[in-house]
Amino acid sequence: MPNPLDVIRTNIDRLLVEILPSVTILAACKGRSAAEVQVAYQTGLRCFGHNYVQEAQAIAPQLDFSAPWHMIGHLQRNKVGTAIELFDSIDTVDSLQLAQELEKRCANTERQMKVMIEVNSGREENKNGVLPEDAVALAEFIAQQPHLHLHGIMTMGPLLGDPENSRPYFVETRKVYEQIARLNLAGVNLRYLSMGMSDSYQVAIREGANMVRLGTVIFGERK
Ligand SMILES: *Cc1c(COP(=O)(O)O)cnc(C)c1O
Repeated sequence: MPNPLDVIRTNIDRLLVEILPSVTILAACKGRSAAEVQVAYQTGLRCFGHNYVQEAQAIAPQLDFSAPWHMIGHLQRNKVGTAIELFDSIDTVDSLQLAQELEKRCANTERQMKVMIEVNSGREENKNGVLPEDAVALAEFIAQQPHLHLHGIMTMGPLLGDPENSRPYFVETRKVYEQIARLNLAGVNLRYLSMGMSDSYQVAIREGANMVRLGTVIFGERK
């Protein structure tokens, strides 16, 4: 049996060859131990994401590196205070209320926070994210908040067997990105189009993603 940490090293070495440096690999760390996350950093990854505030809080003191951490899970309003202490970017802003709460908390603690808008590109009822047609209004609202800095657009898209089926949702999200970029909103500096996961990152990159969120292809199947 190969050492599980060596498997992670091999996976990352391969991904760093395959994926151009212009695309940021965000390591999706939900369910992973501090030791696994530590190896990901040692092997060269420089961007990390977590879905759960409490889990991220539990591993943070065991990590001896500093790198940007992104909140990629749905953020409940009662966790906003802890989240802005732990994360460098909140990638899942999907309502005026959440943006407002973030602004309030950041103002109270004199913190500046990078955020992304999460788009519900599949228009799924039970999914988080704003509908594509509501993203511009949310971007305009965020632009007016002195402590929030919009730097990207992210989407999950429906989970479909064949990654080819995700393509139209990636195309739609890219259009949202371009639409917001064209507005040239003061204080908004769009840089990241975050889409694609382990099964779909190749299609996402072809459709313009410059950030991919990878868990399984880095760390193996989640237990
Ligand atoms: C878990 C997760 C990922 C990574 O998923 P994999 O299929 O394991 O690569 C990416 N984005 C979000 C929002 C996730 O929750």
